[in-house]
Amino acid sequence: MTETDMWIVRYAEIALKGGNRAFFEQALHRDIKRRLAACGAPAVTRTHGRLWVNDDPKYREQVRRELQLLPGIQSFSLAHRCANDLETLKTRGWEIFRDAWAADRPTRFRITTRRADKRYPMKSEEVSRELGAHLLQNAPDGLLSVSLSEPELNLHVEIHGDFAAVHLVIEQGTGGLPIGTGGNVMCLLSGGIDSPVAAWQMIRRGCKVHHVFFENRTFLGRGAYDKVERLSKQLAHFQGRTTLTAVPFSDIQVAIRDHCEPRNRVVLYRRFMYRIAERIMRRHRCLGLVTGENIGQVASQTLENLRAVDITVEAPVYRPLLCMDKLHIIDIAKRIGTFETSIEEAPDCCSVFLPKRPETRARIEAMEADETHLDVETLEQQAIEAADCIKLG
Ligand code: ATP
Ligand code: MG
Repeated sequence: MTETDMWIVRYAEIALKGGNRAFFEQALHRDIKRRLAACGAPAVTRTHGRLWVNDDPKYREQVRRELQLLPGIQSFSLAHRCANDLETLKTRGWEIFRDAWAADRPTRFRITTRRADKRYPMKSEEVSRELGAHLLQNAPDGLLSVSLSEPELNLHVEIHGDFAAVHLVIEQGTGGLPIGTGGNVMCLLSGGIDSPVAAWQMIRRGCKVHHVFFENRTFLGRGAYDKVERLSKQLAHFQGRTTLTAVPFSDIQVAIRDHCEPRNRVVLYRRFMYRIAERIMRRHRCLGLVTGENIGQVASQTLENLRAVDITVEAPVYRPLLCMDKLHIIDIAKRIGTFETSIEEAPDCCSVFLPKRPETRARIEAMEADETHLDVETLEQQAIEAADCIKLG
């Protein structure tokens, strides 16, 4: 057989999905092909409970970055694919080990063998023992020692029916489930750090995320929209086709400023946003709303305020960041590449007409009473009619 390097892609959680397994595997297969199209479009095959991607050294780093973040991948390895007879395994095993080993210092190692094909004439432990002995023989005296529990180098050997795959490193994927296996949701996307991460968390669990952005162009110009458009494009890189709906929000904010209690403004803005988002989400067959809200992160996000907003919609509101710490959220934003865009200066509409003392313990009756000063239905209808939806991905 011709020997090649290949990526082994593992998908632990999908394997648990019983009767649906083939469906999830096909979805992941399709996602990988789509994402790697720009990396020389390598062949991707699905066998033996794994996906195999042809390696092209020219695109290696690019492929690695894609595999790190593609939802549904538990881990992956760049492996050498060779014949599975013991002599070949010894030769290749030693070469691969030697290349990675800083041969000038003592090193603990182990061999981990897994037989996907149980008809192989040797047991996994026997293969490990033979290979281990071979490595000890080849290395200068005393430099290598076996440690099953705390190895510094672990040579993995996977034995399949007509080939073996040998590698040293297992790289972590992002986990989760393949794109689009979880249904559609509508994310209220601002230009901040949080909501793109919230969208990403839903994408990671297999949801298709559409976006809605409320825009105060009259007072703030187009800067925030430009940011949100770029953020949703960055997210489309992961999830493929999606939409961004921009809803003009200036008239609603002016009406609230002119007719309602100043301290209620932020909660009232949110109530309008939620209700409008709920109406728009039906067009995209979404099953719920998503926000980047997080308990207590800012004064407006208390449990009382969240409840006063929640109550205005029937749709479930998913808040994947609700209990996460800001540092963790920032960490994810950096990993998925949205952080740099999010921190660009461009004020959000929520900052317009901010009162000195915003309500932090909103009462539902007080919000409802304040809204009787507004023609809620007409304001919402006009905003929806003036909304602009673009396709992405
Ligand atoms: P983010 O970083 O996502 O902006 P934040 O910490 O700034 O969040 P808020 O500004 O209070 O928090 O917004 C809370 C949530 O409300 C956001 O995560 C987002 O889901 C939604 N939201 C806020 N402003 C807008 C907007 N202009 N358009 C769409 N959604 C918005
Ligand atoms: Mg914000």
